[in-house]
Amino acid sequence: IIKFDKVTKKFGDHVVLKELEFEVQPNEMVTIIGPSGSGKSTILRILMTLEPINEGVVYVDGEPLWHEESNGKLVPASQQHLRKMRSKLGMVFQQFNLFPHMTVRRNLTEAPIRVLGLSKKEAVERADELLDMVGLADQADKFPAQLSGGQQQRVGIARALAMRPKILLFDEPTSALDPELVGEVLQVIRQLAEQHEFTMLLVTHEIPFARQVSDRVCFIDGGAIVEQGPPTDILTEPKKERTKEFLHAVL
Ligand code: ATP
Ligand code: MG
Repeated sequence: IIKFDKVTKKFGDHVVLKELEFEVQPNEMVTIIGPSGSGKSTILRILMTLEPINEGVVYVDGEPLWHEESNGKLVPASQQHLRKMRSKLGMVFQQFNLFPHMTVRRNLTEAPIRVLGLSKKEAVERADELLDMVGLADQADKFPAQLSGGQQQRVGIARALAMRPKILLFDEPTSALDPELVGEVLQVIRQLAEQHEFTMLLVTHEIPFARQVSDRVCFIDGGAIVEQGPPTDILTEPKKERTKEFLHAVL
C-alpha cells in the first residue's frame, strides 16, 4: 500500500534519503527505528505531502503520490491530486499538534466537517465514539491545555482516526511524554495494531513495544535501510554490525 521506488530527498546539498526502496503491505504494522538524523521523520513527512522529493516515485494505495499520470507519463501532482492522496493518511506527531483554541471534541470534528463534508451531527457522533475508544469520553469539552500529555496524545490519535485514513503514521508519539504517561498511549496504539484494520507505520525508540506489536521492524541509517525483518530477528538477533551498535546504545 506504500512503496518508495528509488526515492532521493535532499535538503540543499545534504542527501537525506538515498534511492530509498521501501514497501509496506496493506494492514501491515511496520516500525522504523534508527539514529537521530537518519531520515525517519522525513519518510513520514514525504508521505503526508509535507516534504517534496527530488527523485524517484512514491506510491500510496496503488497511485503515485507526488506525481499523477497523464498520457501514460508521470507528471508532477496537482494540488487536487495531493489533497486526494493526503486524505488516505493520518499522522500523529511527537508534539501532539492539537488546535489549542478548540475543545477536544472540536479538534476531532473540525476537519471531518470542513474536508470530508460530514454534517455536524455525524462528526460529533464519530468524535464521541473515538474519544470513548481512547478512554477520554469524559474530556470532550475541555481544551488541550487542560489535559495531561498522555491524554493530549490520545486525542491526537483519535483526531487522526476521525478522518478515516487507510494508513496511520506515528512519529515518536511517546517521546515528548513523561515516562509514567507513555504506557497509556502505547496501549491505544497496541489496540489499533491488534485490530489489523489499518496500515501502520511507527517511528519509535520504544524497542520492547516494537518487538511486541510490529509485523516488521526496519532499521534505517543514513537515509537507507540497513536491515529489516520480523521483530524477533532484527531486535534480538540482528545480523548487521550497525544494527547491533544501535540497539546496544538504546536498550
Ligand atoms: P530524529 O530521531 O532526531 O527525529 P530523524 O531520523 O527523524 O531524526 P529527519 O528529521 O528525517 O531525521 O532528518 C534527517 C536529516 O535531514 C537530518 O540531518 C536533518 O538535519 C535534515 N533535515 C530535516 N528537515 C530539514 C529541513 N527542513 N531543512 C534542512 N535539513 C533538514
Ligand atoms: Mg524525527
